[in-house]
Amino acid sequence: MIACDAVGLGHGLRSETQLADLARCDFAFDDIARQWLPVTDRDGRASTPGVYLAGDGARILGADAAELAGRLAACATLRDLGLPVEDAELDGLRAALAPMVRFRQGLDTAFPWPAHFAAALVDEAIVCRCECITAGELRAVARDKGAPELNRAKAFSRLGMGRCQGRMCGPAGAEILADALGVALPEVGRLRGQGPVKPLPVAVEGTP
Ligand SMILES: Cc1cc2nc3c(=O)[nH]c(=O)nc-3n(C[C@H](O)[C@H](O)[C@H](O)COP(=O)(O)OP(=O)(O)OC[C@H]3O[C@@H](n4cnc5c(N)ncnc54)[C@H](O)[C@@H]3O)c2cc1C
Repeated sequence: MIACDAVGLGHGLRSETQLADLARCDFAFDDIARQWLPVTDRDGRASTPGVYLAGDGARILGADAAELAGRLAACATLRDLGLPVEDAELDGLRAALAPMVRFRQGLDTAFPWPAHFAAALVDEAIVCRCECITAGELRAVARDKGAPELNRAKAFSRLGMGRCQGRMCGPAGAEILADALGVALPEVGRLRGQGPVKPLPVAVEGTP
């Protein structure tokens, strides 16, 4: 046995979808990933014309799949620009990607995100590390202020307003809020993407 003050664990992978959100792409709730993901066709075309998505920004499939999806999206871009792309190239990329999508679905089904972990967090547990917002504070926002969805809960509590802009706490916050309100997860929505997607230093080296 090893004595310790705290145990941290990570479970599940979450797609970073803020760029697609800022590009105003349509999203749909993915039951298996338990996350709102941008909608694309099989080659990566998003609903916003001229936007193509691949890799972790669209869905988590791993490094090899990200490369294949990137090639597919590039081919789709070229084709939409009227430039020549062989059908065989597209078919080969789609065929290589298909088993990776099935494998991912199998993994997510075999090892589902334990949603009850988030719902069962003690009130003192910090959910939003950047702003130090606890599970209890988030539940109080649902209970006392009637926040019906995640963005309203963010405004009341500051959850997701810090440096990571909800990338780390957003999914757990949604699970806790949905549980506190007694509604299904999709009903509390998702945190809207805000620019800058990644924190940027105001000063650069050499600036007086
Ligand atoms: C710890 C860890 C272990 C992993 N292990 C495995 C593994 O064993 N096997 C496996 O298959 N996969 C693994 N993965 C997943 C794999 O790394 C990703 O699926 C893959 O890298 C996705 O590729 P990508 O090009 O979509 O994204 P990334 O490789 O993340 O590339 C995105 C790039 O975009 C840049 N970027 C981000 N935002 C902006 C912005 N606003 N403006 C400009 N640039 C920006 C980033 O700096 C980065 O260079 C692991 C991931 C992690 C984090």
